[in-house]
Amino acid sequence: MATTEILEAPHAAATDKENAKQTLLDEARLSLDLNEHGIFFNAEELVKLQDPIELVSGFGWGRGLSGFKLPHGVNAHGQFAKYTPYSLKAEDGEAVLYKDSERIGAVEFNRHHPASEQRLSTGEKVRDIVNVTQFGGLHVMYSNECSLKDLGEDCLYCAFNERAKDGERYKVLLKTPKQVAEAYDIARQAGTANHFRITGGFVPERRELEYYLDVADAIHDKYDSFYGCAVIGAPADLNVLPKYKEAGYSTVSTNIEVWDKNIFAAMCPGKEKRNGGWQHWVDTLLASVEVFGRGNVHSTIVGGLEPVESTLAGIEFLASRGVVCHFSSFRPEKGTPLAGYRSPEASWHWDLMDRATDIYQRHGFTTLQMHNGNAAGPHSAQVHQIKSGEFVGDKLLPWKFPAID
Ligand code: SF4
Repeated sequence: MATTEILEAPHAAATDKENAKQTLLDEARLSLDLNEHGIFFNAEELVKLQDPIELVSGFGWGRGLSGFKLPHGVNAHGQFAKYTPYSLKAEDGEAVLYKDSERIGAVEFNRHHPASEQRLSTGEKVRDIVNVTQFGGLHVMYSNECSLKDLGEDCLYCAFNERAKDGERYKVLLKTPKQVAEAYDIARQAGTANHFRITGGFVPERRELEYYLDVADAIHDKYDSFYGCAVIGAPADLNVLPKYKEAGYSTVSTNIEVWDKNIFAAMCPGKEKRNGGWQHWVDTLLASVEVFGRGNVHSTIVGGLEPVESTLAGIEFLASRGVVCHFSSFRPEKGTPLAGYRSPEASWHWDLMDRATDIYQRHGFTTLQMHNGNAAGPHSAQVHQIKSGEFVGDKLLPWKFPAID
């Protein structure tokens, strides 16, 4: 090989990597554009490609598609829209995404894990109790109702109680610790309980700690340990935080939702009134880092309820103190006071995504730490992975929690 070829080879490889990174970042931007504009599709045509339970969801603010992967592996969701440049068509046994007449490529729908269909001794299916995630973990919504609704203090953007009215999708309103532990056991035996996240609305009388400890005890009846995250409200007494760790939870998430104090008070009247207000939520996060360690405490902000600089200030402040503060994209939902409002444009959400993931990178959070908190984690974890160079060729490979057995 000539000297010039030796010098050019690494340079070409570096250029290929940079080009692939840009391709993946463009695809991450596309997923936000799909969020904004929605997708036109013929459900009857698409369900022939795959089990309809896995394909079409009525979740959220309209009829939509459950999660799918774009051609380079970036996750996306899509709500049905009649007037949008994006469409999905069934072609040769595949679902193919188009922008107007431009063929973007074939997408791949996320599949339910077979363990989801197994039944508990009490008759419910595993998926009635837990959601087996594509990352090899479990997501448990222990309660499908938030007691703040009865007090007229539920968060203005939140459709939690509205969704609970969908009895077909949410069959068990309050899951018992025994049911959760049995579903966990079935999933773990199937090799897919490598992470366990438990969350829910406010339970009456704030009996969250007792419930979470009962769940951990029920799991410990069969297993010495588990790896998981307790999503908790800010407790009145911060001295209870170590109890979550002693019970076996590896991480905690306390969701601040809005960084601006005044907008927080307006958007989250119950969290403001019942938990000592914004400052106490922040104090809880900082105290949690003392117990669980840097990178093992999480929070989340609803992206689009306040100016982007405010959200980024919160993410930066919390990151500098060891808290991974995720963010979601605000979507106005039916039945909430913000129904009919609009989320900012995709370019706004991309600005937040791009700058927030730069913050995570600068503070050295790992991909595992991006995933092991609340459900908003994967939203930005993929961009974090792309920026960290964790991809092969121009493909982002599916990420899984490390096996615990
Ligand atoms: S605390 Fe707020 S965000 Fe959480 S479930 Fe209740 S209403 Fe929704």
